Amino acid sequence: MTLSTSDRARLQAFLENTRENTESYLGYPVSKDFEFDDLVEFLRYPLNNLGDPFSDSTWRVDSRGFERDVITFFAEMLRAPENDWWGYVTNGGTEGNLYGLYLARELLPKGIVYYSQDTHYSVAKNLHFLGMRHIMIRSQKNGEIDYDDLRETLRARRDIPPIIFANIGTTMTEARDDLKKINNILDEMAFSQRYIHSDAALCGGMAPFMDPRPAFDFADGADSISISGHKFFGSPIPCGIVLARKCNVDRIARSISYIGNLDTTITGSRNGFTPLVLWHTIKSLGKDGLAARVQHSLDTASYAETQMRHAGISAWRNPGAITVVFPQVAESVKQKWQLATANGESHVICMPNVTREQIDELIEDMLATPVANK
Ligand SMILES: *Cc1c(COP(=O)(O)O)cnc(C)c1O
Repeated sequence: MTLSTSDRARLQAFLENTRENTESYLGYPVSKDFEFDDLVEFLRYPLNNLGDPFSDSTWRVDSRGFERDVITFFAEMLRAPENDWWGYVTNGGTEGNLYGLYLARELLPKGIVYYSQDTHYSVAKNLHFLGMRHIMIRSQKNGEIDYDDLRETLRARRDIPPIIFANIGTTMTEARDDLKKINNILDEMAFSQRYIHSDAALCGGMAPFMDPRPAFDFADGADSISISGHKFFGSPIPCGIVLARKCNVDRIARSISYIGNLDTTITGSRNGFTPLVLWHTIKSLGKDGLAARVQHSLDTASYAETQMRHAGISAWRNPGAITVVFPQVAESVKQKWQLATANGESHVICMPNVTREQIDELIEDMLATPVANK
């Protein structure tokens, strides 16, 4: 299998382009400080984690043993109930969210999904796939769900089991809905049947190491949690994890004889490479390394917020967030740094690889090109 000279040149040009584009982005929550040379040889094999990671399978070219290690690590980190958790490595946060909503629908077919205005754009599509009834709740200014609006909306539908889709780090401002507050409201209304899913795409990798610890995991009342693997942890291929209470999952599992396994996952064929990526990160960094990574990002975010304010830019961030929000920048600045911009606001996300030098340079660019001149 060889390429022609021109095809090879095209790949080479693409490689250089990718390298350049990767250098300069500050606006998206994706880490790029990874190194997986140890895993390159595995690209020679058709690894496929077909079926349920926790049951036996006829197919053996898989990394399900590593996948189980990864899920076990997260179960502990997310304080899952002992011997009552299950999960798998997904293709990303969206699949984990789809899984959580699917499980909720099977358990509470008549339920209504409540989620805030600031919820990720993929959720509307997931709800459409599943045909679930849903109601959008107002957000507060900082992006967190408006608890009063949630309470009033629930009050009007006390005969219908609520399914709460909570945001642990919204896309634009990294706001976190507080599961303790949400649970208090559900208790107040005496809902006996309820389900809470935590969409912790970005923050699920950070929150366990933060003080104060955000209320977002199983011990705080979540029934399922989805986290992206390529965001805070970093991966060359999108991936993620989803965890749920095993007693709930068992109620919907179906056995499939063709693969000699259970059909518990959303897709049939599943990535066998990305569990190795997550396993490598967990093993090489350990809990201390991950905690240090979180602290480093928080320090950079604090630096960015302070420096911007000194420069007269009205920057702000949510408590414990690595996302710094400021008024929309000029088009050229947005393009240069690939800054996500919506509703008159832009942001930088201080992923572990973001440096203070880059923040300084960004501020210089912002001052040199005010929005009025865009
Ligand atoms: C990124 C993100 C998602 C989607 O995750 P993918 O890994 O891109 O599929 C969902 N919700 C939130 C809050 C996110 O930040």
